[in-house]
Amino acid sequence: MPFEPDLIVLDAPAADHPFTQRVLEALPGVPVRRDHTPASAVETLREEAVDVFGAAKRQLVLTTFRGSFLKKCPGLSPGMVCCNYYVVNLIKNCVYDCSYCFLQDFLENNPLLTAFVNIDDLLVELEEEFREHPDRSFRVGTGEVTDSLALDDLLPYTDYLVPFFNRQNNAVLELKTKSDCVDNLLKQSDPTNVIVSWSLNPDEIVEQEEVGTPSLPKRLDAARRCAEHGFKVGIHLDPVILFDGWEKGYGRLIEQVFDTLPAHQLEWISLGSFRYRPNLKRMMQERHPHTRLLTQEHVAGSDGKFRYLRPLRNHAYDTLRTTIKRRAPEVDVYLCMETKEVWEGVTGHLPRADETLDRFFDF
Ligand code: SF4
Repeated sequence: MPFEPDLIVLDAPAADHPFTQRVLEALPGVPVRRDHTPASAVETLREEAVDVFGAAKRQLVLTTFRGSFLKKCPGLSPGMVCCNYYVVNLIKNCVYDCSYCFLQDFLENNPLLTAFVNIDDLLVELEEEFREHPDRSFRVGTGEVTDSLALDDLLPYTDYLVPFFNRQNNAVLELKTKSDCVDNLLKQSDPTNVIVSWSLNPDEIVEQEEVGTPSLPKRLDAARRCAEHGFKVGIHLDPVILFDGWEKGYGRLIEQVFDTLPAHQLEWISLGSFRYRPNLKRMMQERHPHTRLLTQEHVAGSDGKFRYLRPLRNHAYDTLRTTIKRRAPEVDVYLCMETKEVWEGVTGHLPRADETLDRFFDF
């Protein structure tokens, strides 16, 4: 079922924007409040809703963003290895409801599903930035605080982003998703400079923990269609979750990936372990009381996030990397949001932050 919000909150500066008109035309039956601000909409939810965060995902704010869209990836934390990545946030929050989603903590005070309609301003900013730094390679992701494609039928940002990135000499776009919502994307004729990456987990984790997301076969089929269309495809096994039987579960998942996608069509596979800040644990316990993710021991890292004990992480990464390499030695595997010690322990070397991943994008 296509997503339909319960309410649209229309911020005054966004009202006459063509993108706003496009979205409103696609949602003719949804009530629109022009007298509400995002803050007053949240206030009302706090008075009326039991699950404020869950209800806020169903209220769509159309607004404009003032300031600089392009940001260095905030994943760069003390002790962690940087992947030299930039993010732009056109949407905040997500229509899915994964139990482990960090947005429950990160957006707790500002949880409404928010779309910035002034994509024209973003493209001007990016054009200037890319032109000012012709010697730099920009990898730009839109999936930091949302799923890049889950709403692309309704909020068709790829109509603007893909043709723009097609023309760039020093920039690629990464669309990171758990969705199967690729019909709009597949209308684009040119896949140049665009990588579509899927976040995958074994079926049992998808069913138990990734609430509202498309099944694993649907995601893989969407990835296959994008690869056949010529888009580069990446895979994130992230968060890796250590449940009873995880070795078999992830082994099966890796088989399913390579049964669907030929290795030569895969740009990389990234691995990242389940991690959380203390406040997320409280939100998970409140909003997802049946989650099985909090039963094991976790330790705080230098970035303040809790993870599985390092030997368990090392063992899991090593197992998955070996399984992938056995099936497809040519596929590059890298670790996301990990310490130097874990990188060295698993891969035998430490990446250089400014160069390591550039080759994945054929600069
Ligand atoms: S798909 Fe990503 S952004 Fe959406 S709820 Fe799940 S973890 Fe959060």
